Amino acid sequence: MSRRYLIAGNWKMNTRSREATALAKAVVDAIGEDTPVDVALCPPAVYLSVVADAVAGTPVGLGAQNLYPANDGAYTGEINAGMLTDVGCRFVILGHSERRALMGETDAQVSKKLQAALAGNLVPIVCVGETLEDREANRTEKVVGTQIRGSLSELDEVRAAGIVVAYEPVWAIGTGKTATPEQAEEVHAFIRKLLGELFTDDVAAQIRIQYGGSVKPGNAKQLLGKPNIDGALVGGASLKADDFLGIINAA
Ligand code: PEP
Repeated sequence: MSRRYLIAGNWKMNTRSREATALAKAVVDAIGEDTPVDVALCPPAVYLSVVADAVAGTPVGLGAQNLYPANDGAYTGEINAGMLTDVGCRFVILGHSERRALMGETDAQVSKKLQAALAGNLVPIVCVGETLEDREANRTEKVVGTQIRGSLSELDEVRAAGIVVAYEPVWAIGTGKTATPEQAEEVHAFIRKLLGELFTDDVAAQIRIQYGGSVKPGNAKQLLGKPNIDGALVGGASLKADDFLGIINAA
């Protein structure tokens, strides 16, 4: 089963309009019209439209960093899947560890968001990952397994193949500490096996599992060389065009 790499840049709460346009244009220009790797940029919601203009008609996809799982209505401050597709999004990051930690997002909420994303024709990138404390207490599989089961609890087999999972050990996000390729592969293989149990082995073989956590041009090739690592969710390094392109080239 060959899975296309997906390299996605999570810009988090960074950039301003001009910077966002320049960064997106630099990526678009370097990639050209054809690429064997899927690439997505996930800017802050207020800059989705300017980045949509910069990537229009190119293979670079647009992604959001969150959504609210409801149709239009009285939800002050929130943005739904229909609005995201309306401005050109194809992807949406869900359950990022920063949202889980800072906004108290739960697996049950991620599950609702996942259903809303799929109903709105968005490709969800579902983030899971353990803290350093979990890892040191040998709870990595228990924690990641619980997050996967909870976040995908309402997902049916037919739609499961189209989702993306991002394994992001919390201790490696924005810290400069990367999981070794072996550590990452071990968890990716565990996730794929679990996905096989939840759905079927065939479906599990189609689901892309990205690694995230201080991915840089210098460590991307080794990580992406592992059989169950199908791409990267990139934070810090996605804010510098050269670094992000270096990771894409490694893929
Ligand atoms: C992320 O936030 O998804 C991430 C992986 O960040 P960084 O690459 O900066 O560790």
